[in-house]
Amino acid sequence: MKKILVYLEEKNGSLKRTSAECLVAAQSLGVPVVGLSLGATSLATQAAEYGLTDLIRVEGDAFRSYSSQLAARAIADTATAEGCDVVVFSANSSGRELAPRVAIRMEAALLCDAVEMHAQDGSVQITRPIFAGKAHDSLRSLTANTVVSLRPNVFTAKKSASAGSCSERVQQSTLSASDAKVVVKNVVRNEGKLDVLEADIVVSGGRGLKGPEHFELIEKLAASMGGAVGASRAVVDAGWRPHSEQVGQTGKTVSPKLYVACAISGAVQHLAGMSSSKVIVAINKDKDAPIFKVADYGIVGDVFDVLPKLTERIAHLGGAH
Ligand code: FAD
Repeated sequence: MKKILVYLEEKNGSLKRTSAECLVAAQSLGVPVVGLSLGATSLATQAAEYGLTDLIRVEGDAFRSYSSQLAARAIADTATAEGCDVVVFSANSSGRELAPRVAIRMEAALLCDAVEMHAQDGSVQITRPIFAGKAHDSLRSLTANTVVSLRPNVFTAKKSASAGSCSERVQQSTLSASDAKVVVKNVVRNEGKLDVLEADIVVSGGRGLKGPEHFELIEKLAASMGGAVGASRAVVDAGWRPHSEQVGQTGKTVSPKLYVACAISGAVQHLAGMSSSKVIVAINKDKDAPIFKVADYGIVGDVFDVLPKLTERIAHLGGAH
């Protein structure tokens, strides 16, 4: 392992926490690290807080709207030009799309969804959950180049005590928007909604809520703690909630500080998406529901009774923070 490139993302001008997690994890491997961002926003000041000293920003009209094809080309080209043999992404939605594309371009091994990452015998070794979280797999790259993606919210985005400044090298991309084979025509934003992938607290509802109108109970509890609303697949399939909120094997994998599962049975496919949460609270009227096996705290009770009381109590205490 010679040098690591970390792909950095921003949202509304701020460095994404998932990118900060990648920066801190990459710097722990003991080889030089360079950050890479695409587009007009400078992330140097924010990245410096996490110990980064060298950042490349590639700008140009190719990055005015999102194109995974052009972004992957720019990332792979920059990694090669910089002599980076490891590229690190967050395993968030864009990382899941970009990491395989970059791996193909760099003829690299692809180690996905790591919950641990180490340097081992000069290469990268990761651990990742498999079989819906029932087992863990250890993988070590044996190729010259390696692309790694890190599961969001597992690695700690701790600011560096000795943070200095970060130099930024701005490069004009030779790519143009017209090089894209697929064009994004429209982006619909979930304005104001906190994404389950980025929230410290996620409150999820399941089929036991009986209908979409009762998700108000989940929204109120989430709002009282500054959290995001999640959902089981059963309620997403029923059309009660959007797929963007689905947690689980075929939804999003979350690892918040607090996960509250309300009227969710705890099927293995749901557990696959939330069992690495730091603290799990389950509310279910069935004391034998499988969700209680992974819960740190369990309330055996009716959500229609428990949720209003919990929300009121938390609001009374001034929220969870
Ligand atoms: P249910 O299993 O119906 O559970 C409802 C729970 O609510 C029960 O435990 C019940 O005791 C409780 N309850 C009922 N009324 C109340 C009340 N008043 N108060 C308190 N508790 C109450 N699922 C996912 O969630 N995410 C996925 O990504 C996912 N991917 C899948 C992929 C595949 C290939 C397959 C086959 C399945 C997948 N599933 C996924 C579906 C999964 O197997 C379950 O069917 C689903 O998670 C069940 O959702 P649920 O817990 O909301 O509903």
